[in-house]
Amino acid sequence: MNAKKIAVIGGGAAGMLAAGQAAKLGADVTLFERNSLLGKKLGITGKGRCNVTNNCTPEEFIKNITANGKFLYSAINRFSPADTMAFFESLGVPLKTERGNRVFPVSDNAVDIVLALKKFCLQNGVRIVTERVTDWMRNEDGTLAGIISEKQKHIGFDAFILCTGGVSYPITGSTGDGYRLAQSVGHTVKPPIPSLVGLTSDSEICAASMGLALKNVAIQVTDTMKKKVIYKDFGEMLFCHFGISGPMILSASAHLRPMEKDRYSISIDLKPALDMQTLDKRLLADFEKNKNRNFANAFDALLPAKLREPFIKLTRIAPEKKINAVTAEERRRVATLIKGLPVSVTGFRPITEAIVTSGGIAVKEIEPQTMRSKKMPNLYFAGEVMDLDAYTGGFNLQIAFATAYTAAIAASSDS
Ligand SMILES: Cc1cc2nc3c(=O)[nH]c(=O)nc-3n(C[C@H](O)[C@H](O)[C@H](O)COP(=O)(O)OP(=O)(O)OC[C@H]3O[C@@H](n4cnc5c(N)ncnc54)[C@H](O)[C@@H]3O)c2cc1C
Repeated sequence: MNAKKIAVIGGGAAGMLAAGQAAKLGADVTLFERNSLLGKKLGITGKGRCNVTNNCTPEEFIKNITANGKFLYSAINRFSPADTMAFFESLGVPLKTERGNRVFPVSDNAVDIVLALKKFCLQNGVRIVTERVTDWMRNEDGTLAGIISEKQKHIGFDAFILCTGGVSYPITGSTGDGYRLAQSVGHTVKPPIPSLVGLTSDSEICAASMGLALKNVAIQVTDTMKKKVIYKDFGEMLFCHFGISGPMILSASAHLRPMEKDRYSISIDLKPALDMQTLDKRLLADFEKNKNRNFANAFDALLPAKLREPFIKLTRIAPEKKINAVTAEERRRVATLIKGLPVSVTGFRPITEAIVTSGGIAVKEIEPQTMRSKKMPNLYFAGEVMDLDAYTGGFNLQIAFATAYTAAIAASSDS
């Protein structure tokens, strides 16, 4: 009988799966969570719908990992997206696959995922302690013996799985405690930077069009230093007081590394369905219809209201100029702007607003087959606390689940 005593620190996506799985394998598991409720962040994922995984192969999954994808090869083959789906369905949560292979609960309710993981823990006998872990206790040989929480000491564990997350959305409990706990046993922490985050801009158009959501537009991101297009996408984005955000921009942000002020520029194609020639014909027709009106009114049918005034400013054509006086050269300038509205990028929004943290515990100090620390033999890691992150699409939760499953198996069986 396996009766290893395991402490799992952090009751988020990774911690709950690790705790339940280790207990299912026969370990005596205590899960420590600083909040009074488990899975606070998980409950707000996917805009409250929880994009729980991506219905793809392990190979596709690896392609969507921003850094250190190879480290995940073993874990993702042990617990694949298909396994995640089977796991939640077996716990009574039916799932559906949407655009881009994104998987959600049929109920569109992230709480169902949280409750399923909690049920998995409880039905396998996991003890839940709602205390914040602050330090380790050591055995004479230097290995970990117990933990110190804000309230008391807990001694007598054989193994520890650290699942405290990154530092984004700290209001959910992930404030970087895991980095400090790992550093105290000799681990290196790669400085955390935001990923899947809004971008700041000093382009006037952002503040002037604040609150405007653009749908069915295309973006192209250029690394001006390398003179290379590094990202293209089609979909939705949003102008904000600070710059730009929305699904496409969050995805683009994962590609902007290293972030340096004004290194990247974004151009927005406001009419991706029209090629230059067709757009020019459309402009000619619109201008003909409105030929006696002022240029300020030229775009009533073509552009959203909030965008018109700042757009006209960018054309450098006087708003009071009569449309029939607009030259062919000026019309070409207008078309070029519609097909490539430039937006500068000055930086990332703060990490506290990021969907995920890039950086964290260096994976070269962790065994990929077991998630075991190479610095401390009875310490394991799972989830975002490690230097692992991915694009949007359910890949980040899949990282949490695959690494948690792997750590649980190893922690409950290693001698
Ligand atoms: C708004 C938002 C939406 C997202 N949507 C998606 C999505 O749809 N799909 C997707 O794949 N990813 C999504 N993510 C990312 C995903 O939520 C994370 O990658 C994932 O939750 C990481 O899991 P984790 O268990 O490693 O960390 P977390 O979920 O952050 O859990 C860490 C837990 O550890 C606890 N903890 C921290 N320190 C201590 C301590 N000292 N003692 C005890 N407990 C502690 C915390 O309270 C927390 O509960 C989203 C993130 C955000 C912020």
